[in-house]
Amino acid sequence: KDAKVAPLTHKEEVGRATWMLLHTIAAQFPDEPTRQQKRDAKELMALISRLYPCKECADHFKEVLKANPVQAGSQAEFSQWMCYVHNVVNRSLGKTIFPCQRVNARWGKLDCPERSCDLEGANDIM
Ligand code: FAD
Repeated sequence: KDAKVAPLTHKEEVGRATWMLLHTIAAQFPDEPTRQQKRDAKELMALISRLYPCKECADHFKEVLKANPVQAGSQAEFSQWMCYVHNVVNRSLGKTIFPCQRVNARWGKLDCPERSCDLEGANDIM
């Protein structure tokens, strides 16, 4: 009677949470990333396309990445690229296309005291 039922997470919920993480990472990405940070951005997206917890989404996203290789030469480039690939997914789901010139108004840097959440890039070696 009190059988424990494992909770199910909805695909939409995990999608919204993942896009929030990805757009926030892009907003917080350094203007002048190091080579390692550029590699990390590419690897992150490749890992998402393999480990994303919805197989059909992951398989589709692999194709999206193949057609649109990660562009992470700067913060602006990475956030515009993220917006573009999110729109590719939106289009395939019949969702509204988001105007990418508004991406900085929708997704900002984290509000941390004295920019303590900012990553160091190539240009700001302490
Ligand atoms: P979401 O698409 O989750 O967007 C969240 C918010 O981001 C929106 O409310 C809007 O304010 C903003 N936003 C929307 N578009 C953009 C943009 N282009 N740039 C910046 N901000 C934007 N679901 C499937 O059913 N099939 C799939 O194949 C699939 N593949 C996915 C692949 C990945 C990598 C991810 C992260 C998610 C995938 N999803 C997939 C989930 C899907 O994209 C949505 O997250 C989910 O359907 C919920 O949609 P939503 O309308 O609430 O808004």
